[in-house]
Amino acid sequence: MNRLGIAALVIGLMHSGICCGDEPLHEVSLTRMVQRDNLREWKFIVLHHSATEVGSLESIDAAHKQRKDSDGNPWRGIGYHFVVGNGRGMKDGQVAATFRWTEQCEGAHAGDLQYNTQGVGVCLIGNFEMEPPTPAQLDSLQDLVAALQKGCQIDAKSVIRHTDIKATACPGKRFPMEKLWGGVMKDGEERLVKTRKRE
Ligand SMILES: [Zn+2]
Repeated sequence: MNRLGIAALVIGLMHSGICCGDEPLHEVSLTRMVQRDNLREWKFIVLHHSATEVGSLESIDAAHKQRKDSDGNPWRGIGYHFVVGNGRGMKDGQVAATFRWTEQCEGAHAGDLQYNTQGVGVCLIGNFEMEPPTPAQLDSLQDLVAALQKGCQIDAKSVIRHTDIKATACPGKRFPMEKLWGGVMKDGEERLVKTRKRE
């Protein structure tokens, strides 16, 4: 590679957001996004919807900062570990890791101590009582779940919906769990290979 090529590569890396701290990390590969040195012992992946048509990591963060825990202390911010955009507030299919993932701290999403401390909380923007996720969202979710399963050794039966552990409609009746099971759990390895090839 000539010097110009190297310069272009460096600029490309800078633009990919690799060094951006709390910024959404959508252009970093999902496998790399999931990798942490200080990985907690995660046992579950808990899937949610935002129950709003529009939203982003920032809008949920602002809303969750208004909440208080049972001791009256304000939440530190967004309760999920990952957010997947739907093109309204965030790019369609964009995956963003929150501080709860980068700092490997427990979530505030399940309404249950075990699932908050051992469950990776993933929120898709949208109200899936009304409409299904976008194809790009579902595709990104499948890749994210596959990367998390591999990185944290989480088995297929431990990828669950919020409604599977609590009396809630979340993530909505139009959330296609069957498709997710077909797309991720059976060919998780295949998807990971695909993800790796895209890097
Ligand atoms: Zn939920």
